[in-house]
Amino acid sequence: MGKSTAPKAAPEKPVDPRFPRPVLLPGQSLCDHCTAKCCKYFAWPIERPTKRDDFDYMRWAMLHSQTTFFVEDNDWYVLVHTTCKHLRPDNLCGIYETRPEICRSYSTNDCEFDSHYVYEKYFETPEQVVDYVEVVAPPKGRKSIRSPKPPLFQFV
Ligand code: SF4
Ligand code: SF4
Repeated sequence: MGKSTAPKAAPEKPVDPRFPRPVLLPGQSLCDHCTAKCCKYFAWPIERPTKRDDFDYMRWAMLHSQTTFFVEDNDWYVLVHTTCKHLRPDNLCGIYETRPEICRSYSTNDCEFDSHYVYEKYFETPEQVVDYVEVVAPPKGRKSIRSPKPPLFQFV
């Protein structure tokens, strides 16, 4: 995370021609053209859920709004959509000189400014977790609550 009030290095990321990055004037940063996407969430890895209890814990977390989960390279993460208390109304950092190290190490070279990335798996609602666990870990001794697969259509 690296919203800054000072210019950062020019982007080195290969530019997707469908989504060209803005031309930066001298002294400008890519952040000057951004709505501070990287200052509006935090995420960290979690243990891969394997039991129904694990998924129920996820569901509980998601009952608190703005909590989501995603999977990337088989690693699971919790992602909370919440804005840093020091983000200013003009989308610049209010504590630039003392911002945390993770913000300092974040760079516009590889940030999500123009990202159109899609996760391997993304859970946005508790209901999606319930549907998922019914498929991957249906309760023992009981069939899944999902509707059975319908028979193939037959011509008569
Ligand atoms: S997402 Fe990139 S461009 Fe936007 S504020 Fe963060 S570092 Fe700057
Ligand atoms: S301290 Fe907050 S506003 Fe400043 S760069 Fe970090 S996340 Fe963004």
